Amino acid sequence: MNVEAEYTPPRRPTGMPLDPLTAWVTGDLGEKPFRARQLFSWIHLRGAESFGAMTDLPAPFRRRLQENAALTILKPVETSRGEDGAMKFLFELPDGSPAESVLIPAPPRLTACLSSQAGCRMGCTFCMTGLAGFRRNLEPDEIVAQLYALRKASPDRITNLVMMGMGEPLDNLDRVLTALEIITHQHGICMGRRKITISTIGLPRGIARLAESGKQYGLAVSLHSAVQETRERLVPMAAAVPLETLRGGLMEWSAATGRRVTLEYCLIEGVNDSIREAGALSVFARGLPCKINLLVYNPVPGLPWKRPGDRRVQRFMEYLYPRCPAVTLRKSRGADVQGACGQLGASLMRKGDAPIRTPRRP
Ligand code: SF4
Repeated sequence: MNVEAEYTPPRRPTGMPLDPLTAWVTGDLGEKPFRARQLFSWIHLRGAESFGAMTDLPAPFRRRLQENAALTILKPVETSRGEDGAMKFLFELPDGSPAESVLIPAPPRLTACLSSQAGCRMGCTFCMTGLAGFRRNLEPDEIVAQLYALRKASPDRITNLVMMGMGEPLDNLDRVLTALEIITHQHGICMGRRKITISTIGLPRGIARLAESGKQYGLAVSLHSAVQETRERLVPMAAAVPLETLRGGLMEWSAATGRRVTLEYCLIEGVNDSIREAGALSVFARGLPCKINLLVYNPVPGLPWKRPGDRRVQRFMEYLYPRCPAVTLRKSRGADVQGACGQLGASLMRKGDAPIRTPRRP
């Protein structure tokens, strides 16, 4: 007997938007469409952790769910809290891949930062995740379940979401969009699209797809330099995306969504914190509907980059202020628990078996 051929992996309804969930519930399971809506609300709105807890579903339906499906529940294997209140969570997925998420309080906001991949294949030279390599894309249920685990860990309501954890969301865009469709659905937790930001190093095809969709998600681009040569030093993928191409894509995205793009710029001593670099940034931003978020680099063990001193940061900001419409120096959160930008991925390094893959062309 060929056991492998007969095995059907259980469905993972946590990662199914309402339409495919309804098709499955009415087709394979032979129930009425309203049962799919009930199931969706139990999973996403009411946070049920077992089919047995869904008390208004008929017992035979619950039994069939138990036989054919599995809920995706992530429990942190490690939680650390920073002095600034930021909390970092490490989850271990069933195949042993790690996913890291961060909860960032900044009253009145509470932001969840989720991973879209276990590792990342973009290879940014300042980032621990880039250094650690790539294991795999996360599935929609694994993205959604990170949010629900954070929701469970916090007494306060999560108000915002950023796809800024491990991974390049536009390198796993279909699954990320599926997860966001679930998170924003009116029968689920119904988070507003404008409260959600997708962060990218600037993959043009993904930006074009977001523009075409016209969905109101925010877009943050990790620019880090508006000098092509410097950018390529920090973000190797930038070699395939000239700054003009990137800028053109951002203009189109902004025209399609009516929103300003956020340019993320992490200041690294002696690399991108000079007045020449500030000048190039102001030229890049001129005429582009954008705001600029400056961050000060959080050193990553094993990497040569350094944090610039306060005077250099001040000088850079003073150059930009009169020339750019909106510049903010953002406080880096969670640095003491390795939860700040560029610091995620320690779990991959610990495992020591993450294959480093050649970056794909965008
Ligand atoms: S900065 Fe983002 S895109 Fe670059 S390697 Fe790190 S996680 Fe990947």
